[in-house]
Amino acid sequence: MTETVTNWAGNITYTAKELRRPRSLDALRSLVADGARVRVLGSGHSFNVIADPGPDGVLLSLDALPPTADVDTAARTVRVAGGVRYAELARAVHAHGLALPNMASLPHISVAGSVATGTHGSGVGNGPLAAPVRAVELVTGDGTTVTVERGEERFGGAVTALGALGVVTALTLDLEPAYEVEQHVFTELPLTGLDPAAFETVMSAAYSVSLFTDWREPGFRQVWLKRRTDQPLPDFPFAAPATEKMHPVPGMPAVNCTEQFGAPGPWHERLPHFRAEFTPSSGAELQSEYLLPRRYAVDMLTALDGIRDTVAPVLQTCEIRAVAADGQWLSPAYGRDTVAAHFTWIEDTAAVLPVVRRLEAALDGFEARPHWGKVFTTPAHVLRERYPRLDDFRALAAELDPAGKFANAFVRDVLGG
Ligand SMILES: Cc1cc2nc3c(=O)[nH]c(=O)nc-3n(C[C@H](O)[C@H](O)[C@H](O)COP(=O)(O)OP(=O)(O)OC[C@H]3O[C@@H](n4cnc5c(N)ncnc54)[C@H](O)[C@@H]3O)c2cc1C
Repeated sequence: MTETVTNWAGNITYTAKELRRPRSLDALRSLVADGARVRVLGSGHSFNVIADPGPDGVLLSLDALPPTADVDTAARTVRVAGGVRYAELARAVHAHGLALPNMASLPHISVAGSVATGTHGSGVGNGPLAAPVRAVELVTGDGTTVTVERGEERFGGAVTALGALGVVTALTLDLEPAYEVEQHVFTELPLTGLDPAAFETVMSAAYSVSLFTDWREPGFRQVWLKRRTDQPLPDFPFAAPATEKMHPVPGMPAVNCTEQFGAPGPWHERLPHFRAEFTPSSGAELQSEYLLPRRYAVDMLTALDGIRDTVAPVLQTCEIRAVAADGQWLSPAYGRDTVAAHFTWIEDTAAVLPVVRRLEAALDGFEARPHWGKVFTTPAHVLRERYPRLDDFRALAAELDPAGKFANAFVRDVLGG
């Protein structure tokens, strides 16, 4: 490539032979039809080579296509273009008095790239961000558009698809009436006494709950409760209310975090942890995350506590979230109510990788599925065991992409065969 293109964190330099930015759908279609191997680059917030087509392939950015978000107020849906980010989508939807059910910690990530990797927020009743998707429009390898809708059998493979089926040019999402959210932060939640019932009570205390720790001590430094104002006030006797505004990473300024101290505000200004106005153009961090059946939550926390001394030196913060089961075959939350353990590491790959391996060993036995967009070393044969519908996904990929144009090394590794 004439220009060097990296991901947001800068730990991956894409090896594609060129980066193309088609200016129209027709140009995109012919580019795909004529190309050998194609991968779409979303907003580049993944921490591994998932988006890289390899040296013989083309990296496709949708930045030059119109960033449309067409809201149908009567149907309560939005049809959003493939390159749009959550911050833009949220503003468009909110302007019509409508809302998404949930958001991730950062609003700057693209919608298509997020749902492709199973990205999620928190909440025992909230599925991943793919949950409200009702239709996906794909430009497939021969340049034709295929629409797959909820209700079709193959829909289960079509949304969280790792970019392996085609270029997602539009998604249609279900919306709900706009709502307000208050964010309440608490400090010092001990691990002692957190049995499975207490864990469930903590994670169910509000619409979205996150626990943060740097694992330098046992237990959690912070608990973030995001309460919808149309739901009951949380009774949270387990930890003390924060006395100052907090950032999930100890010592970082809280100014770029969303409003706290229970000040009500629009859903899209409270559900993410970070404000849309502060755009971090790059990140001095790496991330990993593992999603497990929630029944293992307390055993997992005990296992993490057991390797605190290994994890803490390379850790900025660890976040524990809940995700409701979903039906996307490749979703890390597929078929099981989930607990997600997220790790924001320092930006030193050489120091972090051995810790990731140690962490994966500690989580062995808990059926952990790594986040597709983050750093992991779980071997391909183990990944294949953890996804019961993988053969169905392979069959769908063979149907929609018979030439394997969208299957890069990452995808081939996961799918095997
Ligand atoms: C600071 C930060 C905070 C994060 N917070 C969360 C969080 O709260 N929860 C969580 O679960 N994850 C989180 N993530 C991870 C992030 O959500 C995922 O990595 C997500 O995939 C990023 O979307 P993207 O558009 O940047 O994807 P990219 O990294 O650009 O691409 C990801 C995959 O999607 C494919 N893709 C992208 N667009 C298209 C398209 N139009 N058509 C077909 N394929 C496409 C790419 O080819 C690639 O395979 C966070 C990441 C960062 C950096």
